[in-house]
Amino acid sequence: MKRKKMTIALIAHDNKKAAIVNWALKNKETLAKYDLCGTGTTAKLISEATDLNVKRYLSGPLGGDQQIGAKVAEKKIDMVIFFWDPLESQPHDPDVKALLRIAVVYDIPIATNKATADYVIHSKLMEN
Ligand code: PGA
Repeated sequence: MKRKKMTIALIAHDNKKAAIVNWALKNKETLAKYDLCGTGTTAKLISEATDLNVKRYLSGPLGGDQQIGAKVAEKKIDMVIFFWDPLESQPHDPDVKALLRIAVVYDIPIATNKATADYVIHSKLMEN
């Protein structure tokens, strides 16, 4: 039986936005096979750069990470690619922590840097 199409959430803190856009451009063909969503600004930048359809949630500091966390809990998001900035404090740090926690609770892949995102996106477990 064919698995349902996976939904991948894309999020990047401000200092990592260029990196996630470059990563999405590099992996555009693969990403095109999945349903994509992301926090407001990240989703907008990725869809503009790649022409991929990326559903936009609210911007992270305005609740976007929480919206994505809720979808993980509802089993509507299957994977999170989260280019997180470890060098700058974030006003929504508790939301970021909550998203990391909920991803672990529901045992979904959550890549928090480019190296891990590369491994995940090329995993044979991605085949659908
Ligand atoms: P943004 O949110 O994509 O709207 O900038 C990301 C974040 O800071 O969590």
